[in-house]
Amino acid sequence: MSAENDPAQRVAIGISFGNSYSSIAFTTGDGKAEVIANEDGDRQIPSILSYVEGEELHGAQAKSQLVRNAKNTVTTFRDFLGQDFKAIDPTPCHQSAHPTQSEGTVAFKIRDTEAEEEHTVSVSEITSRHLKRLRNSASDYLGKSVNAAVITVPTNFSSAQKDALNKAAKEAGIEVLQFISEPVAAVLAYDARPDAKLADKITVVADLGGTRSDIAVVASRGGIYTILATIHDYEVSGIQLDQVLIDYFAKEFLKKNKSAGDPRENDRSLAKLKLESEAVKKALSIGTTASFSVESLAGGIDFTATINRTRYDLLASKNMAAFTRLVLHAVEKAELDILDISEIILAGGNSHTPKVASAIAGAFPETTVVLAPSTSPTAINPSELSVRGAAIQASLIEEFDLEDIEQSTHPMVTVTPHLSNAVGVLCISGEESSGIFYPIVDAETPLPVRRTAIIATPREGGDVLIKLAEGSRHIKVTKPEPKPKADKGKDEDDEDDEDDDSEEEEEELREKTWKIANVLSEAAIKGVKKGGKIEVQINIAADMNMNCIFREVGGKGGVRGLLAG
Ligand code: ATP
Repeated sequence: MSAENDPAQRVAIGISFGNSYSSIAFTTGDGKAEVIANEDGDRQIPSILSYVEGEELHGAQAKSQLVRNAKNTVTTFRDFLGQDFKAIDPTPCHQSAHPTQSEGTVAFKIRDTEAEEEHTVSVSEITSRHLKRLRNSASDYLGKSVNAAVITVPTNFSSAQKDALNKAAKEAGIEVLQFISEPVAAVLAYDARPDAKLADKITVVADLGGTRSDIAVVASRGGIYTILATIHDYEVSGIQLDQVLIDYFAKEFLKKNKSAGDPRENDRSLAKLKLESEAVKKALSIGTTASFSVESLAGGIDFTATINRTRYDLLASKNMAAFTRLVLHAVEKAELDILDISEIILAGGNSHTPKVASAIAGAFPETTVVLAPSTSPTAINPSELSVRGAAIQASLIEEFDLEDIEQSTHPMVTVTPHLSNAVGVLCISGEESSGIFYPIVDAETPLPVRRTAIIATPREGGDVLIKLAEGSRHIKVTKPEPKPKADKGKDEDDEDDEDDDSEEEEEELREKTWKIANVLSEAAIKGVKKGGKIEVQINIAADMNMNCIFREVGGKGGVRGLLAG
């Protein structure tokens, strides 16, 4: 029986496979994910292969070949998998092996053997070779042969892309147990922590990777994740941030060495400039200054310079603001308000940059938790979120047959019916005509669902009327009263006034309120004790049939109701 048929023989890991970097992880006996370093000691392994006289180099070793051996170095290929040549954007491959068309799909012409001639190697074959290297690194580390994996993919990876990746993985000796989407893996990595509170929440996963940014709004309801909206942008990315530094250092170099020429205009100089600029960018995530140093940058001249974080933040401010806009746009696309967002998980390598996190934190209310290294001491390394989630998922499912995995894990993403409004109760007593709405089952909760809540009744007790209702969330905006303009005095005072005005404008008060969309049923509970509490249990079936029980805590009896959806 092969490992594919026999779950007992599986050795499974988590793999995150990005256009820029890949990672591998496994879970220890106590369910903790551990990211594996490859033979070079790297946990973020560049998704790059390079060939030197028939020898295959991988990861960081392959990346350093971009200076001398760019034509035989293959980069940025994940998104090309399963795509038609005409559909791809080859721009990120400008300074490495160029993609070409081969039998409709994408391939690279490289010298990958000792022979002089070039071979056309398909993107599937390249992917397979890359995955094989990752698999070998994991096997060496674990001391046993890895043969299965959960692999993360972006939410917009098509089924053709997944099929191609599945095939390439198989070629590399890896049985794909499941593909999980990158944002769900990120939420899973956080939720699997021993101290995580598994409350219902709306999370935004904001991923600023090397070649793209991906935003997802994810609802977690009773441990089921539903993706409410996604945005993908290929203009806002790490490459753009690197370009900011490339331009800065190129100009600094030119200021001092005009006659040596622009290092951006020579392939080898540009490759050196790029590699060092990315290293400077990473250094600025930890330190407030970083130095740039390249031997023989252009015209045989060595170049050294320094930059501080404030300067970088300023130079990249447009790009960072664009990323924040994408996050806000995704919230809008999910038809939510920023007040609905419990937390923002910053993922992708560029989320290490403090300004990326602080710009986003500044656009959300203080109640939204921003999980990034610079804003939260307990944040998980954003470069490792995907792979940790994948490894955790692998450990959860590796013992099941593939068929069972397909069935049991479907609800992970958005196929179940959902509530469009919250369902809760209004509790009314005495003279009151309306009461406060207590949401019990949140909107976007997948069905079927059962929730129980304990509600304090109005203080005086007595007969209490409970209304089961659907509530829709509204945002109440209160603008501050405009201050009466002070008499204009001296010029200096005028300037102060202007400042005050502009600050006040931003200070509008935004609160969540509920509007009753529909009253579904009513029940009266008689003679409730003073300060008494009522337990409400709501069951909603997949076809929206509802069934509820109200009873006084500690009291006798209760009221039951059945409602057709
Ligand atoms: P994509 O698929 O979008 O290309 P990826 O998933 O392959 O991305 P990630 O590891 O998420 O890659 O992100 C890589 C990006 O993060 C690169 O632009 C890299 O320069 C940047 N990066 C990695 N570490 C840091 C750091 N410490 N500080 C700032 N940027 C970093």
